[in-house]
Amino acid sequence: MKRIEEYVRTIPDFPEPGIQFRDITTILQDPDGLKLSVDLLLEQLKDVDFDVVVGMESRGFLFGIPIAYALGKGFVPIRKKGKLPCETVSTEYDLEYGKATIELHKDAILPGQKVVLVDDLIATGGTVEAGARLIEQLGGEIVKILFLLELKGLEGRKRLTKYDVASIIAYDGK
Ligand code: AMP
Repeated sequence: MKRIEEYVRTIPDFPEPGIQFRDITTILQDPDGLKLSVDLLLEQLKDVDFDVVVGMESRGFLFGIPIAYALGKGFVPIRKKGKLPCETVSTEYDLEYGKATIELHKDAILPGQKVVLVDDLIATGGTVEAGARLIEQLGGEIVKILFLLELKGLEGRKRLTKYDVASIIAYDGK
């Protein structure tokens, strides 16, 4: 069986020059890759007591939902502005060029609920930091943040020092 790293496809200069895009579709399209990636993420949660999985749109959904399903928990999406139909909390964060807004349904997290937050990849950490803000605004307690991939060169963990953060594959550069 291949190692999980071998299922990731790296595309140089996408979506712009200088970016090494880490493509996870090649993990998901392979039955062994899909199983291995979810199993490795589940291993990180074996001693974690939690109530609900929250995933970041959209690649956080791809891993967050199988994790929640396997462990018998619910799943809550954090979505880009304007997609969630009920009352939301929202927050803005910086992108490389410009800003983005993400939202979470107000009634999706109850005060005191223990949350595992999932995304596919941590680069600068800005996206997940914003997601964590929304969860905490509703009184949720983040007990673990999980990524499949980490770009260590961008030092995203520095924004998340107060959390328990884990990743499965870490790349030294960006
Ligand atoms: P950041 O907020 O900088 O941590 O960016 C994280 C988000 O951007 C994740 O949801 C990733 O899906 C996406 N992303 C950033 N850099 C890359 C990359 N090199 N390859 C693939 N996805 C990336």
